[in-house]
Amino acid sequence: MAKNRTDGGGGEGGDSGFRGRKVTTCSFCGKSSREVGPMVEGPNEVYVCAGCVELCQNIFRQEKRRVNSVSSALGDVPAPREISEYLDQYIVGQDRAKRTLSVAVHMHYKRLLHLESEEASNLELDKSNILLVGPTGSGKTLLAKTLARMLKVPFAIGDATTLTEAGYVGEDVENLLLKLLQAADFDVEAAQRGIIYIDEVDKIGKTSGNVSITRDVSGEGVQQSLLKMLEGTVANVPPQGGRKHPEQQYIQIDTSHILFICGGTFVGIEDVIRRRMGRTQIGFGTHQTDGVRLAEDANRGEVLSHVRTQDVVEYGMIPELVGRLPVIAPLESLSTDTLMKVLTEPRNALVRQYEHLFALEDAKLTFTDGALRAIARQASKRDTGARALRAVLEGLMIELLFELPDDAQNGAEYVIDEDAVENSSRLEDIRVSRKESA
Ligand code: ADP
Repeated sequence: MAKNRTDGGGGEGGDSGFRGRKVTTCSFCGKSSREVGPMVEGPNEVYVCAGCVELCQNIFRQEKRRVNSVSSALGDVPAPREISEYLDQYIVGQDRAKRTLSVAVHMHYKRLLHLESEEASNLELDKSNILLVGPTGSGKTLLAKTLARMLKVPFAIGDATTLTEAGYVGEDVENLLLKLLQAADFDVEAAQRGIIYIDEVDKIGKTSGNVSITRDVSGEGVQQSLLKMLEGTVANVPPQGGRKHPEQQYIQIDTSHILFICGGTFVGIEDVIRRRMGRTQIGFGTHQTDGVRLAEDANRGEVLSHVRTQDVVEYGMIPELVGRLPVIAPLESLSTDTLMKVLTEPRNALVRQYEHLFALEDAKLTFTDGALRAIARQASKRDTGARALRAVLEGLMIELLFELPDDAQNGAEYVIDEDAVENSSRLEDIRVSRKESA
């Protein structure tokens, strides 16, 4: 036991602080009390300095966290069905992607647990990063984010098109890890079990005639660092972000247990799939005037559901990258009916949010089915999937929200119908009833 006595002191430099006292040396780091100040003395002339005590505390803290978090966060990896049911609360449709993801994610975290266990040395389990293929605004990012929330693991989002090799203008691949680290409050252990979503991976690796000396977007360098990261490497992350420079201190992050979910729209990949499968096998191409769009969408979804690794390579992604994304999950574009559901069904659905907002102001907001359908119809014209819903709805609500605080005091009730959506100048008239103020 330490005698709780400090020796040495001052640290102001020079001999003056130690006059009459013995200069001691830290038994751990070997620095003298002149350099590092007072020390705690243990039995048999053992000394420890403040810096080493702090370091030890950090090591203990980290170890404790590791033991606790691995057993508590991962001790109970939810079953695929549970994961899928959780996703159902926030994401409409996309059943196939949900199933595939639930199984892959379950297996991934099982694998982490397995690595902690004793048989780990006998059997190596491969990591399964995931590739989501589907149109803009169909829920790719939302799926990844929701998974991370369910599993209570840190989550970061990056965009493959902004990634550049270190030294170029743009974002270093390591910055993705920094984002994850920030999401984990700089708990390295937690970050190493996190999930990173990388959007627009279909845009890298495709050769373009555009050669730039300041950006190396699709260059070898990015691909190589991305490949290494997906596979598992120990990366040096600059804690302040930005450019790396030699004197900087780095935080080391091992990426081998991080789950990478990559997403891309892969516009036109249906043609590749069709070619592979032979046109006659799938799709009926019922291009009649009315249902053209519907038939095309349904057809695209049907074709996309057959997507395989080889199609993604054929499409133009580099095989090494695809090889590190062994799980592929296709997402469908959202029909008007599905968009209507997106407006109302998820736990944090937009319409629910607005209703809540109005309730806070002591007013009531109601959308008729016709209005919801009209909003969905307008959104689907914009070709940005469910993302357009917010824009359409916000455009619609601005007038109402502007007037809300004044009006609402009377307990106003607003009903938005199809006509109001189609003709938003009518919004002024949609206040249908007022309760007598108390
Ligand atoms: P992307 O496929 O382009 O990554 P996002 O996941 O970012 O699309 O979706 C954009 C927004 O649209 C999300 O924030 C979410 O509110 C909504 N959204 C997209 N797809 C769905 C879905 N299937 N169910 C519910 N909301 C969705």
